[in-house]
Amino acid sequence: MNKAHLWHPFTQMKDYNNADPLIIERGEGVFLYDVQGRAYYDGFSSVWLNVHGHNVPELNEAITDQLGRVAHSTLLGMANVPAIELAEQLVRIAPKGLRKVFYSDSGATGVEIALKMAFQYWRNKGVCGKTAFVSMNEAYHGDTIGAVSVGAIPLYHETFRPLLFKPHLIPYPNAYRHEGGAAAAMEETLSALRLLLQTRAEEIAALIVEPIVQGAGGIIVMPPGCLREIAALCREYGVLLIADEVATGFGRTGAMFACDLEAVAPDLMVVGKGLTGGYLPVAVTLATDEVYGAFYADYEERKTFFHGHSFTGNPLGCAVALASLRLMEERNMVEGVRTKASFVERKLAPLLARRHVGDIRQQGLMIGIELVRDKESRAPYDWEERIGVRTTKRARELGMLTRPLGNVIVFIPPLASTEAELDAMTDILAEAIVSVTEEGWDG
Ligand SMILES: *Cc1c(COP(=O)(O)O)cnc(C)c1O
Repeated sequence: MNKAHLWHPFTQMKDYNNADPLIIERGEGVFLYDVQGRAYYDGFSSVWLNVHGHNVPELNEAITDQLGRVAHSTLLGMANVPAIELAEQLVRIAPKGLRKVFYSDSGATGVEIALKMAFQYWRNKGVCGKTAFVSMNEAYHGDTIGAVSVGAIPLYHETFRPLLFKPHLIPYPNAYRHEGGAAAAMEETLSALRLLLQTRAEEIAALIVEPIVQGAGGIIVMPPGCLREIAALCREYGVLLIADEVATGFGRTGAMFACDLEAVAPDLMVVGKGLTGGYLPVAVTLATDEVYGAFYADYEERKTFFHGHSFTGNPLGCAVALASLRLMEERNMVEGVRTKASFVERKLAPLLARRHVGDIRQQGLMIGIELVRDKESRAPYDWEERIGVRTTKRARELGMLTRPLGNVIVFIPPLASTEAELDAMTDILAEAIVSVTEEGWDG
């Protein structure tokens, strides 16, 4: 029945239909249960979303309470109660200066909004020619056409190139893959950006970046200080900074937002994924008063932001996001992430001695383990070997779900995972890696 009608995202259906499909029926805490009743640790937070675990009474209650009032009412020209309250809470915790909240329903739409706002900002200000964007190699910002335009992962994005606008790309500082290590990688990024801005700043509307951790590109952590320097260059040359915190927001990196780690205040910031605790599709684009102000005018001036979605500001989603933020504060979760992150770091450290573990990258509870064919030369496995897919298949057999990014094994557990649960999950991770890369497991 599953194979008859469903077409899965990011999935080669020929592979899927030939494999043993996984069908989830329910969740409880950090566990997901399939229709056969088998339990799995949710080792990737259901694709980087989940915060408090599954089937959380406080979050369920927030939704049913709101359901008893109204499920949906539009934000086009009117408001609803949870959308107002959530906007206030988001502004309270956001990096300094972000004071306006524009709702949408996925990370990709949030990115589209940021790009369009940045573009129209300069037009509304009467500044001509600032129409281009800067993005980074291997960036991922979602799958709609604008978001794909500023994306730079060849496997996902190359097919669509003829359809897209073309950003300026600068290198992302990848310490493991740079001959000179972290310092040289960072210098290369910053000098490329400086040179670009010196020559083209008057054509550039904004730079978009995944702050501190580049997610889908392989969980790559920036060298310390790099984000701060990128932000300073944007400011110096009059280019807006868009922080895509869709993956990194809400405690994931050990700070409320990754920008907070380097006290960076972007002009626009996009959040999604963990905003609702991973419960419902709500995303937000936050803007400064300066950006908002450029749209605030008499109607006849045609400065309105003509953009919206049917489910913009959905009350059920906003209500559960409010409950999630309340739980995060009551339970001191951001601080908890830092403690749990050190535990995971200690647990994973011995893995680095294994024959095929090239690099372990971690920021908070966002972890990527890069497997390599040859450790000395850092030569990657050929993609046909599907080393990542096989390793996560083995992990599933051992009772934990995750998805690889090429040869990088992703470990992004729910923030609420206890130390005992993280202990068990990291054991499975290690066993799966050893059994596939050293013992040749090929179930
Ligand atoms: C997941 C992700 C997106 C896209 O979010 P969707 O809700 O899947 O559209 C955008 N940017 C980053 C950094 C992401 O990790």
